[in-house]
This record gives sequence, C-alpha cells and structure tokens, in this order.
Amino acid sequence: MSNDYIIKKAQERLTKLIPGKLATDKVLAKMTTLRVGGPASIFLSVDTLAELRVVLQVVRDFELPSLILGRGSNILVSDNGFRGVVFQLGQDFNQTAVKKNEITAGAAVTLTSLVQSALKNSLGGLTFAVGIPGTLGAAIAINAGAHGAAVGDIVRNVTYYTEDLQLQRQGHDYLDFGYRTSGLPKNAIVVEATLALSLSSAEIIKSQMETNWRRRKTNQPSELPNAGSMFKNPADDAAGRLIEAAGCKGQTIGGAQVSGKHANFFMNTGGATAADFYLLMQDVAAKVEAASGIKLEPEVKIIGDWSYAAR
Ligand SMILES: Cc1cc2nc3c(=O)[nH]c(=O)nc-3n(C[C@H](O)[C@H](O)[C@H](O)COP(=O)(O)OP(=O)(O)OC[C@H]3O[C@@H](n4cnc5c(N)ncnc54)[C@H](O)[C@@H]3O)c2cc1C
Repeated sequence: MSNDYIIKKAQERLTKLIPGKLATDKVLAKMTTLRVGGPASIFLSVDTLAELRVVLQVVRDFELPSLILGRGSNILVSDNGFRGVVFQLGQDFNQTAVKKNEITAGAAVTLTSLVQSALKNSLGGLTFAVGIPGTLGAAIAINAGAHGAAVGDIVRNVTYYTEDLQLQRQGHDYLDFGYRTSGLPKNAIVVEATLALSLSSAEIIKSQMETNWRRRKTNQPSELPNAGSMFKNPADDAAGRLIEAAGCKGQTIGGAQVSGKHANFFMNTGGATAADFYLLMQDVAAKVEAASGIKLEPEVKIIGDWSYAAR
C-alpha cells in the first residue's frame, strides 16, 4: 500500500472519530519560531485525553509517523513537511492548579504562564525558565533549562502516554533527567506534570526573574525569528564559543544566519528555507569539528526528510 493511500485512510478514520478537527496539508512554518517548515499531511488539535487516545490509536493502527508539536520553539521541520500525523495539545491540557508548594499543569501550559503562576503564589524555583518560550510537555521531554537549572530538577511526577497507549505516572527518580534529555520512554507523550517548588517571597522571585531576563537580553538576539540554541553544549565547553572560534559568527546560507550576538543562535533574516538552516548547521558543525575536534550535537529536533537538501 502506498503511503498516500494509508494517509487517506487514516484521515477518514480520524475525521469520523474526531469530527471537525482535522486539517490536511497544514503548513507548519507559522507554527515554528524559525518560521520555516512544509506541510503536515494530517494536522489535529487535540483537546481531551480521549481524543489523544484516538489519535495515538490511529497512528498505531496505520503505522504512521507522528509528531507532537508544542510551541515549535525547538524544532526544524523540512521544507517538504511531515508525511504523517502532527498534533498539538489544546483545551484540557492547558489547565494549571496550585496546591501548597506544588503546581500541577497540563502539557500545553507554557513555561511563561507557569513562571507567572509561581510568582503569583510566591513559589520559587522556576525563575530560570523566564524567557524559554515553549510548553511544559516539551520542556519535560527535553529537560529544558537555563542558568544552571532545568525543569527536571523540580519535577515531582509526570503523567504520559506510552507508544503502546498505556497512561502512566512516574516520579522524578524514574525519569532520569540529564542535560537536555529525559528518561521518558521513546515517543512518550507528556500530558501533565506536577512541579515541586519552594515557598519564597514575591520580591525575591521578581528580582531573580529580572536578573535572568536581563542576562538573556544582553546575551541573546531577539529581533529575528530563531529557535534558541541550535546545538547542545559539549561537556565543559559552550557551543557558542566553539562556533565563534571556528569563525562562523555572522555566516549565512540563504536567509539563515549565525547570530553575531550569540553564535549558537541561528536567525531567519527573512525568506529562509528549512534547507538553509539545515545546511548552515551542517557547515558550522563541520567547521567546529575541523577547528576543535569536537562534534556538536543538535539541540533542535530535526524533523522530516532532508534528502532534497543534500549538497
Ligand atoms: C528565544 C528562545 C530561547 C530559548 N531558550 C531556551 C533555554 O534557555 N533553554 C532551553 O532548554 N531551551 C530554550 N529554547 C528552546 C525551546 O524553547 C525549549 O526547548 C522548549 O522546551 C521547547 O518547547 P516547545 O513547546 O516549543 O516544543 P517544540 O519545539 O514544539 O517541540 C520540541 C520537542 O518536544 C516534543 N514535544 C512537544 N510536546 C511534547 C509533549 N507533550 N510530550 C512529549 N514530547 C513533546 C516535540 O515532539 C519535539 O520533539 C529557546 C527557544 C527560543 C526560541
């Protein structure tokens, strides 16, 4: 059976089970902060746990590739898009509840809104997340962090769907967080998490937020679309420093440019394609390896087929 035929059948099944939600060939560029990326064959916004289960079941039944999209702030999607099912969590995954020093939130809640909830309730421990633009679900999956702290440090437990449709809840120790990694099972979908914070004062929290915000504004470019750090920092070094030392600051391919302010940020200077970013990443990584012997590992998730972009 051709992939097109399977996608059409999956589309029919999803339209029947979750009416009025499905879009075909939805262009993903506007849903990523790099503002690049082609169409998703099937796109759905999933508002309830029951709908999520249906989507995961259909993906499994039809053996289709699938992608959960948060706010698209750590992702590089091919210009050819994604031949499969892309879904985003909506309504029911956007709730936040505060109890004593704990915040329980759905996976679609943004870190920005969690930082504000923590401030409002005088809870410390989340100020490192000021200025990280994604969702809680993605932040847990990749253990997003800054200023020497990360989401994994404050996770009490996480509820997620496994690939084989088991809804599980696991505590911090089971999840084995590392630098930009978590021990969640492969392709697990985070639906909710509880964060354990500490009682603090609004003044202290505000002051930490302002310090962290200022550090970002000083060190990172914000005027053009970007996806934060493109590469992970290797042990005991910084990807930005290595990229700069390899002479790549300001380098461009098409509309993609290595920032002159922070070399690990690549910007869309207007009209960039996903291939521009992909080729720039490859070129920069090759130059860093030649100059330092260090192989940089992408931090952004690289999604889709790139054979068209090969040089
Ligand atoms: C200006 C800027 C600054 C940034 N600064 C930082 C920083 O300081 N520290 C840092 O760590 N990151 C930073 N980032 C990167 C990014 O914001 C984080 O990695 C963020 O956690 C990604 O969230 P998202 O919702 O946008 O995820 P997306 O980009 O949509 O997805 C990222 C990955 O998470 C997966 N995913 C999404 N939702 C779920 C879910 N519910 N369950 C399981 N997997 C899921 C996706 O499939 C994908 O593989 C920055 C980005 C920008 C644009």
